[in-house]
Parts: sequence; structure tokens; C-alpha cells
Amino acid sequence: MPHASQPEPMFGLLFQDAPHDHLLVRFFGSGASCQTSLVCPVGGGPVRVRKALKSTAIATGSLNESAEVQFDRDVAVARQLHARAAATGYRLLVPKLLGEYPPLPGQPQRGKQRRGSSHPPTAPRSSYWTLCNGGTLFGLDMACVRAGVSLPRGLVLHFLQQVLETLEFMHADPVAPVFHRDLHPENALLHFAPGRLLPDLYIIDFGRAGTRAAPTAAAAAAATTEDDDDDDDRQRRCCCTRARCDCKAWDVSRLLHDDLLSLLRCPDHRHPRPDIDTDTGSESDTDTDTDAAAGSCPLCRARRMLQAADRAYWAIVAEDEAAAAAGGHGRGRAQQHRKRQLAVPTLQPIIGFLRREVAHELERVATAAEFADFRRRVLVPVRKAALALEAAAPRVAATAGELVAACEGVPGPWSVVALDVDADGCAVDDPRVVPAGPRRSEEEL
Ligand SMILES: [Zn+2]
Ligand SMILES: [Zn+2]
Ligand SMILES: [Zn+2]
Repeated sequence: MPHASQPEPMFGLLFQDAPHDHLLVRFFGSGASCQTSLVCPVGGGPVRVRKALKSTAIATGSLNESAEVQFDRDVAVARQLHARAAATGYRLLVPKLLGEYPPLPGQPQRGKQRRGSSHPPTAPRSSYWTLCNGGTLFGLDMACVRAGVSLPRGLVLHFLQQVLETLEFMHADPVAPVFHRDLHPENALLHFAPGRLLPDLYIIDFGRAGTRAAPTAAAAAAATTEDDDDDDDRQRRCCCTRARCDCKAWDVSRLLHDDLLSLLRCPDHRHPRPDIDTDTGSESDTDTDTDAAAGSCPLCRARRMLQAADRAYWAIVAEDEAAAAAGGHGRGRAQQHRKRQLAVPTLQPIIGFLRREVAHELERVATAAEFADFRRRVLVPVRKAALALEAAAPRVAATAGELVAACEGVPGPWSVVALDVDADGCAVDDPRVVPAGPRRSEEEL
């Protein structure tokens, strides 16, 4: 379609992760090991997420492995989960892997794939994923706080059902259960499917996923040499928002982190909030619902069921760690230990209960007058921003220097390119790599 004004050359940022080139749309953020951005493929197509390993990457948590290994495992586990989901027709609420750079070796053995063995550890790495357009669950919680409204119970039930279904799918791997082991609120993302008013809850980041509860001998030894009682031990190991915590957000012993659970609290009944209990450091094991009405509340009931499942899971993990420690560090014994499969408590009873309760309550979130404020002040703006994100155009700047300054620390390989941009801000024609360094080229142009 012809445009009224002639295209004007602008500068954009090109990620050259062969064989596909992408233009930067927006930076999302930077963690200890990765930088994520929204990009669009050169030549058109839906925007997607680029996750790139930083050159200064440091692995967080007590896993004795490199950030590169975790980056590769994220790719390998997501691919494996989606392959199994596709084979069984399961709708997996995990962003789809669209590709990785450089490609991981094709079809390695299952066990090998899980450990993320790959190309040289120092090579740059990036992976491409379908976009979850609605931001993090943490962001939605903050939007509710700012608007002075609660997250409706129906939506919390819906999110809880979805995250437990995804975990159950992972745990039900026919070869060995896959534990996420890093399920904190930043790894729970919202996505508004086309034409839907209410979002779904996806989970991301499988870099610390594993088939064992106790992947390192050191972790196992530490678990048995400490003479803390169970409550102290539990407190020590989770979770990352606590001032005294030293788990560095890595906790294999919980199904969900406490800080994620606290976002899935019941808006109608009080629960102890473990993340604000830092002074006493105690988390009561007893049900401390003060409101008698909580007894018949489906969300409070589901949370109690989850607490029981978590306790059973915790006991299995502790037993596994003890077995690993008792086995010593000999190679044969370690192998024997790895062969022993964990009996994971099933989440099916909670999921079944939630399925029966969710539909009716979720429908009311979309229609009932009591949630009108939530819809108007939170849901509609968040959804509008989500849809705008999907339609966002590549970021352009009038000078190359401006872009280079903004891209300091962004993992490559990337180049500044000259683009023709039409009146709508859409890039047209092929991007031309600015050849001799951005600033000099700017002067030449
Ligand atoms: Zn922690
Ligand atoms: Zn945490
Ligand atoms: Zn309740």
C-alpha cells in the first residue's frame, strides 16, 4: 500500500542470531544471567521474546553448575515438554520455543538433554519464545494494589488450577518427573488469548528444572548436617523475598515458592502471609484461618489441600536428600541414587476440586457487578496494554548513537541498522547494517 509520505531513514537494532534476524521492539529486563527483549522477525511476523545469556552471567542459587548449562536446560526442557504435550494433544501453558541460537545438538539422549549438554560453554546464546502478553502475576498484583481492589477469588482459583495442572503435567513425565524448582512470581506470566477477556497463567524458565530433588551431593550433605528443626529448615530454604533467606531463590523442596503462593491468597479470608513474617521467622503449620466462613470457601479449601500436598512433597524430598547423603559420594552409589525414582504426590485431587469450582466463579469475574471496579480499573487497562504489546513496532531512533547508548550491556550479536520507516512507524524494506561503526556512519550519512 503506498504511503503519503516518503520513507524516512531511521536507525534500529538488529539481532543477528542466524539463520533469523530480528529487530528490537522493546527491552523487557535484565536478570543475573539473562536479558530479555521483545523483537520482531525481519520480513514480518508476530513479535516474540528473545532471551539472551549475558556475557557477565552468573548462575544464582545453590546448584553447582554454570549459567550456560541452565540456559541450555531451559531450552531443552521446554522443547521436551512441548513435544510431549503435542503428542498427547495437551494444551501446555508454557510459551512455545521458536528457536535457539546457536542450535542445540539435534535429538540428544533424553538423560543428556535434561542436563543441557551442548556447544562450548562460552558461546553466546539466545532463545526465542512466543510472547505472554499480560506481564507477570506480580505485575497484576501491583496493579490491583494501586487501584485499591482485590484480585477476584474466581481469577485466583483459575490461576491456581492452571499452575497446578502445568506442574502435574511436568511431574507425570513417563520417564521421570520434571520438577520446576524455581517457581517464583516473576516466572508466572499472564497471557490474554485472542478474543478472551480473562488471562491464562503460564510458567516460564526451566533453567533449574530437574528430575531429582537433590541434584548435588553438596546440597544433600548440607541438608543432613544442619541440626535445625523442620520449621527452621523450611524457613532457611525458602523463600527469596525473605530478608534472612539464603536460598537465593532456589528451592527444590517446595511445589511453589511462598511468594507465589502469597499472590494466590484468598481475597475474602485472611491467611498468614509468610513473606512478611521475617521478624519471627516462623511459619505456623496449623491452619490459622480466623474466619469460620473460610471453612466453606473453595479457595481456602484448595490452599489447605495444597499445603498438605506440599508437606508430603517436602517429606519425600527430605527422605531423598537423606538417602543421597547416606549413600556417600562414590560414583556407583550416586548413580544408584539417581536411578531411584521419586514418588511424587499427585495434585489430581486438588485439580479435580478446582475444576468443579472454577467455571462458575470465573464467569462471575467477567459479568458480576461486584467485580465492575476490578474490570474497569485493572483488567481492561492490563488487557489493553497486552494487546498493544502484540502490535508494537520496532524501536527506532533518529541517530545510531542513541540506540547504541540504550543497548549497553545487551548480549549480542547485534548491529545498528538503517531502516526505512513509514508514517505508521513500521519498518519497510530490508534493514541495512551500518557498516563502519555507528557513530562514524552517522556522520557519513
Ligand atoms: Zn529464598
Ligand atoms: Zn521465592
Ligand atoms: Zn477464602
